[in-house]
Amino acid sequence: MKFWDEIRIRELEIYAYHGVYPEENEKGQPFFVNASFFCDIREAGRKDDLSLSTNYGEICHFITKWMQEHTCKLVEAVAEQLSRDLLLQYPLVEELELEIRKPEAPIGLPFGSVSVCVRRGWHTAYLSVGSNMGDRQRYIDDALHALGAEDHTRLQKVSQLLITKPYGGVGQEDFLNGAIQVRTLLSPHELLDWLHEIEAAAGRERLVHWGPRTLDLDILFYDKLIYEDGRLILPHIDMQNRDFVLRPLSEIAPNFRHPLLGLTVMQLLEALDIEA
Ligand code: ADP
Ligand code: MG
Repeated sequence: MKFWDEIRIRELEIYAYHGVYPEENEKGQPFFVNASFFCDIREAGRKDDLSLSTNYGEICHFITKWMQEHTCKLVEAVAEQLSRDLLLQYPLVEELELEIRKPEAPIGLPFGSVSVCVRRGWHTAYLSVGSNMGDRQRYIDDALHALGAEDHTRLQKVSQLLITKPYGGVGQEDFLNGAIQVRTLLSPHELLDWLHEIEAAAGRERLVHWGPRTLDLDILFYDKLIYEDGRLILPHIDMQNRDFVLRPLSEIAPNFRHPLLGLTVMQLLEALDIEA
């Protein structure tokens, strides 16, 4: 659930050294930060208890220290990296908007203001994992370990692993399949690229479509996102037809509703069972 309460910081002034030109890195200049933190502060308000909220004073000091201890060329880099560190530092914040304004940017023209503004946050993704070559259990254990090893992503739930017959009629060994819930700061494409890296580390070669594989990691859902391009389709295009995806997924997310088909995971599984 998204909470749209907001903690706002406006025009926090910080003298720092970010810039493409060497004189900017040497002399420095003022920056102004505007930030909105989206989080649930209802309980903190009802109980009048700061420990249930996020301390805006502390955030201001965190931002100031960060901006002074780092030197980036681009304000884009400041916005990107600082948002990430803020989201990691303040776990009650679901999403944030961060604007870095540079009123004395060396442009050589009269201007009111230039700034960059990013919106970043945590997302929930469901993944499927499968292996049907070699030491299947170890490939999957290694993948789970890799998925839990970076601070941009947290493993939240892992289903039991299921032994299933191969799909697509290609003669090969049985599969071991599971489903995983993660909370991640990665975008859908960043997540896909990362999953491909983990597959590659498991020695996965893309030889035969639906052929034997050491490791297959797919994105089933990314929040309620409906999206499609040449590389990525969300929700996963064929999940509703795959028992070996729906069965483990129904263990960790039975009531998650498919944003296009309008049925929950459990209902999709029941529909598939009736068909079979
Ligand atoms: P499959 O997972 O269908 O057995 P592959 O793992 O070889 O087959 O994936 C083929 C391509 O599918 C990937 O290179 C990827 O770009 C694309 N793809 C599209 N949507 C998704 C998704 N939701 N999750 C994973 N891969 C996807
Ligand atoms: Mg795949």
